[in-house]
Amino acid sequence: MRRREVEADEHDPKDGAVETPSDATSRGEVAAPGAVPERGAHLRQLAIDLLASYVEALEMSPARLYDREPQEVHSGLVARAGRDVITALGAPDLWCMEHGAHIIRVLVEVRIYLQWMAQQDPSIYRTFQEYGAGKAKLYARIIDELPDEARRPDFEEAIKDLKKLSHNDEVLDHRVVDTRDSFADGKSIRAMAEECGLIDLYRQAYYMASGVAHSEWWSIETHAMERCLNVLHGGHLIPSLSLNSGANVELASSWADQLYALIRISLRILGTDEKAVEDAFAWLNGEQDEGTSEGEERRQPTRLNDRY
Ligand SMILES: [Zn+2]
Repeated sequence: MRRREVEADEHDPKDGAVETPSDATSRGEVAAPGAVPERGAHLRQLAIDLLASYVEALEMSPARLYDREPQEVHSGLVARAGRDVITALGAPDLWCMEHGAHIIRVLVEVRIYLQWMAQQDPSIYRTFQEYGAGKAKLYARIIDELPDEARRPDFEEAIKDLKKLSHNDEVLDHRVVDTRDSFADGKSIRAMAEECGLIDLYRQAYYMASGVAHSEWWSIETHAMERCLNVLHGGHLIPSLSLNSGANVELASSWADQLYALIRISLRILGTDEKAVEDAFAWLNGEQDEGTSEGEERRQPTRLNDRY
């Protein structure tokens, strides 16, 4: 016996159907699914601008082509996190712990990688790339195990792509496959966080988000279940038929904040030319002159700039 059935007299929801946020919308309870809340409407564009400025700062800074791995790995990891953040910021249904936990995980993981690698011998960047290339070779081998009858037409293409990504020699098989859990001799992300002073960030942000991602019971209980209201059933849990409406602007804003923090950390570690950084992010300062009058809420770029 579900709460919404008890309240059915009032709302008359469709029998047996999953209640989507749009059902709740029609009752005026929450915003329409997919609709960006007005207070968060600027966030996606903000994340795009931040990532674009990061790339611009790197490109305007003197190139270090003789020493390419650090910048490749940094810009690759930041871009990977930034693209995830931008995409999620365009889909407010993800703005909740239930469906958006992977975003904070990526942001924290990339930050731990970059800060931990900064403390190692610079050859770690090459090791990071080679570890990934080895995994591509491994995946190509595993996919290649499939029997002929299970192979679709584009199958050979996929194997070819993975082989290319393994950067192996066609003739001389030199690519080492490291099957340990990480590029750092199998060191865990937690151990890395401990070594680079990010254990609190790991524990407070990453740990719980991982619990959601790995379907720990507490997360399922709070996100996907509800208590049956039939007093004769002893209060057992039943799957909830109400979807999470997301649209938590504070959570979404924190992703943009964390992306900006990650960008500044990356530029600092790389030693990117200060003038290039200043120029690329000048628009953040420009925003400071507007939007603060008449008690209007300060715009996100200003807040970000104040904080870091
Ligand atoms: Zn029951």
